[in-house]
Amino acid sequence: MGNGSVIESGTVVVRGGRIVSVGAATAALAGLPRAESRGLRQIDARGMTLMPGFIDGHRHIISGNAEQWFKDAPRRMQEFLEAGYTTLLAGGGPAEGNLELKRRIDSGQLKGPRVIPAGAVNLNNTMPDQARAELRRLAGLGIRFIGEETINPKPPTPTQLENLHAIVDESKKVGALVMVHAVSPEAMLAAVDAGVPLLVHTPHYGWLTDEQAKRVAAAGVLTLSCTAFGVPLFDAFRQDNVPTFRDGKRWPDDIIDGEGRGREAGYKAVNARTLWDNGVVYGFGTDTGYLPVKGLAQELKPLNLMFSTKDLVKLMGPHSAAFVQMSNDIGTLEPGKLADIVIFPANPLDGYWNMLNATIVIKGGEVVVDKRANKPLDTARGKR
Ligand SMILES: [Zn+2]
Repeated sequence: MGNGSVIESGTVVVRGGRIVSVGAATAALAGLPRAESRGLRQIDARGMTLMPGFIDGHRHIISGNAEQWFKDAPRRMQEFLEAGYTTLLAGGGPAEGNLELKRRIDSGQLKGPRVIPAGAVNLNNTMPDQARAELRRLAGLGIRFIGEETINPKPPTPTQLENLHAIVDESKKVGALVMVHAVSPEAMLAAVDAGVPLLVHTPHYGWLTDEQAKRVAAAGVLTLSCTAFGVPLFDAFRQDNVPTFRDGKRWPDDIIDGEGRGREAGYKAVNARTLWDNGVVYGFGTDTGYLPVKGLAQELKPLNLMFSTKDLVKLMGPHSAAFVQMSNDIGTLEPGKLADIVIFPANPLDGYWNMLNATIVIKGGEVVVDKRANKPLDTARGKR
């Protein structure tokens, strides 16, 4: 269900895009009026496993020229759905493009996961007043999530810190949330001290201590994984078994500010567990821009090193829903929540790789992907 509990041979009843009941078949249907249960469309998922639809809390969606990108948007959005994603929080700009994408999806003009738009404020070549003005402009457009263009890998520069304090202060006035790519323990703590509510990276320069992780938890700062940053990537940009960085360039040489030999992969994985064990709400984010199912596999691979599959379900479900500020609507399969459901032929609790094979995907009660060869039992219910 995403909250840590498992229901064997369960039934999920959905009405008006939301989950009405979840439980053993008879119990789930018991609360429904007879006439209503008769009209239900039934999806027979016997032997399959349901999970809450995937949430990527940090995905770079629109890249390059936005107008050009939109020409290809239907295919790209379909790729997200096919991987099992039903909610994406944009990893930053372009704000106008993100808003347009959300508008097209919400209006039904474009089929795709729910997109939460974001914008970005530059912290480097600017002054605090300019940074504040940019944040206000984004908030005025209707952007609630404000990213930044990555603060220094090691301790942030005084300029970055000054600007960061300014935008956090400004964000509180307009009800916006600042998301920071804090990539070292020092940067992470500096962001926490600045009052940043959302961190999109697990630090990958140096080891986090329990005390540092406890400070993140105590501040109530929510964090995303993006754990695959330094992990060699295969078969996404080339097919010749040569590892690449996430942009298709050489691994490990082209890892941004890499320390050598790709040791960021090790820092991230261990720091992930340190955060988790110290009570940080730790959700799922890929910080990728390539094929969604590849990004999903790449992120799950290092997480699998440090987390049980049960942990992964929590990390991907309720923790990610909290990060995107939608805990009441998504992240678990519970009555009242949006019917965002991904269905697999094999049980993800038996291995994360079973999460790479979404067969049916439901977003807000609508079947958006159905890869079953035949659907013989997929009929309206005649009787109970
Ligand atoms: Zn990012």
